[in-house]
Amino acid sequence: MTTQRTFSILKPDVTQRNLTGAVNAKIEAAGLRIIAQKRIHMSLKQAETFYAVHSARPFFGELTQMMSAAPVVVQVLEADNAIARYREVMGATNPANAAPGTIRKEFAVSMGENSVHGSDAEETAAIEIAQFFAGNEIVG
Ligand code: ATP
Ligand code: MG
Repeated sequence: MTTQRTFSILKPDVTQRNLTGAVNAKIEAAGLRIIAQKRIHMSLKQAETFYAVHSARPFFGELTQMMSAAPVVVQVLEADNAIARYREVMGATNPANAAPGTIRKEFAVSMGENSVHGSDAEETAAIEIAQFFAGNEIVG
């Protein structure tokens, strides 16, 4: 497996509860390198673009409002097999189903406020990274 990149968001429930460092410690302990990172306040439009794949789902309005209601931290993570590795340390979407030791088990509030986003495939990772980072902001 060659080195791979994935896109990560520490969601508003993390920044609001001052857990950025705690989540980053989990990310780094899993062997993922944070090779780009910035704190931003997403506009509703940016959130709608980012989650366009979910636009027909009943929770789309709630999700995009939540993601644009407070600051988030956007990141690029790098490791061998980074996409699957990060999804493993994130844990299941619903924190009630997340395995012990995962970010969502330890920190998530609910299905919606579930602390982190991670890309689900190489194609989506590339699109998501390009939405938030210029090439010269990523230093691997
Ligand atoms: P993410 O894409 O954020 O990494 P995921 O891939 O585990 O999470 P998706 O199915 O892609 O989950 O859903 C995207 C996000 O939408 C979830 O992380 C969660 O915040 C929100 N979400 C998903 N299902 C629901 C639901 N039933 N009710 C409220 N919010 C939901
Ligand atoms: Mg997803």
